[in-house]
Amino acid sequence: LGQQPYVGRFAPSPTGVLHAGSLVAALASWLDARAHGGRWLVRIEDVDGPRCVAGADQHILWQLAQLELVPDEAPLWQSRRGAVYEEALRRLVASGWAYPCACSRSDIALAHERRGLIKPRHGELVYPGTCRTGLQGRPGRAWRLYVGTEALGVSSLGEAPSSPHILTWQDRRLGAQQQDVPSAVGDFVLKRSDGLWAYQLAVVVDDAAQGVTDVVRGEDLADNTPRQCHLQERLALPRPRYLHTPLVLAADGHKLSKQNGAAALNLGTPELALQALREAAAYLELGEVSRAQAPGPWLQDAVAAWARRWC
Ligand code: GLU
Repeated sequence: LGQQPYVGRFAPSPTGVLHAGSLVAALASWLDARAHGGRWLVRIEDVDGPRCVAGADQHILWQLAQLELVPDEAPLWQSRRGAVYEEALRRLVASGWAYPCACSRSDIALAHERRGLIKPRHGELVYPGTCRTGLQGRPGRAWRLYVGTEALGVSSLGEAPSSPHILTWQDRRLGAQQQDVPSAVGDFVLKRSDGLWAYQLAVVVDDAAQGVTDVVRGEDLADNTPRQCHLQERLALPRPRYLHTPLVLAADGHKLSKQNGAAALNLGTPELALQALREAAAYLELGEVSRAQAPGPWLQDAVAAWARRWC
């Protein structure tokens, strides 16, 4: 990784336009790429079509242009990459790491009840492994990654709980991290029962396909990282470096999001764009960045401030 030319990316889901929170991730990933003399890409993560808002992708690109955060290549739309995800899934199935699953939510809840399993903190039930040994004549609905340590067919573990598999990773801001993927999340979904690609698969495949060396994104996504690293290992893809940026909290103390009414940024003039950049930078512990009065020169000074703080 060290010798590879730096490639960073900003990967918004067009479920809404940029707000103060998503701008922090956009700015941080751009600054990190520039501070490393690298390239910066934009990827529109529109795999969850039903949740996407028509026109939000184009508006996000317009917002980035107003902020003078300009990608070095044409953006990539995940909705056009189904064949690439299909090929990755095929490889996982062929090597015994992915399997079809026939279980509905209520099947999973019932299996939990029967076994007296505990509901995890985050709400989502850890998949009990029912379909690891086959569909028993039921129709397959989704595809899951087997998170055990030996491929299916090799081991006879079948439905037995997977043994611990502690995944460790290093975050440039949060430090050393770890998660036992089997007990924390279990066999996670790669392709949903409605036919949509799961974020985990799409993001891992695309980061590798685009040669991304550095993922800089919001801390709300940090707990996806062990799943993504695990999937990288199973697909024999390189692991990028990670930096998760501080969250922007709403007045109610929750993460600022489109859901709790984060206002769309007003970026109609260079002055407004600069103001938005300054506010985003305040979350990135950069100190006094610059007195520049326009986005372009301000961003140049911010690169230097970023390099002092995070590189
Ligand atoms: N598309 C994801 C989001 O907007 C971000 C994915 C990522 O940066 O890995 O929340």
